[in-house]
Amino acid sequence: MNTPVLVLNVNFEPINVCNTRRAVGLILTEKADMVLNGRGWIHTVSIAIPRPSIIRLEHMIHRPRPRVKLTRREVFRRDEFTCQYCGRHASDLTLDHVLPRHLSGEHAWTNVVTACPKCNHHKGGRRLEEAHMILMHLPTEPPSNAYYIFGRHLIENNEWEPYIQGW
Ligand SMILES: [Zn+2]
Repeated sequence: MNTPVLVLNVNFEPINVCNTRRAVGLILTEKADMVLNGRGWIHTVSIAIPRPSIIRLEHMIHRPRPRVKLTRREVFRRDEFTCQYCGRHASDLTLDHVLPRHLSGEHAWTNVVTACPKCNHHKGGRRLEEAHMILMHLPTEPPSNAYYIFGRHLIENNEWEPYIQGW
């Protein structure tokens, strides 16, 4: 019941991901329609309903375009799971504040990068210049298009692809 379900606005704009339990609740209360199923059936006491993969709200939700949340996982994804100092892929990646927090470095997209433990340790609490290190890419906020925002779900939900493209 925790499988992610893509939520579309009335105009088919992808706006959110919720779990199956919530999606079924929205369908049963007629707040949303099923757009795509294909995941089998859910049996309740009295009825069986198809398990949704994509639903569409019945009423338009007006809200600003979603932005990518600044989380470890999203920083790693932006940086393609690559240390931004040495270019290595590592399984034990860390977050590095380019300008260290104790020097008033912000916790913001433009100041956080993926670093391997070795580079992070080497840099310590120093500025780049002091540590004689350079970044492979200047960190920026990821694009706020639907394809990027919901793209991390595509591996397991590739049927979403046509619905998140172009938004
Ligand atoms: Zn490194």
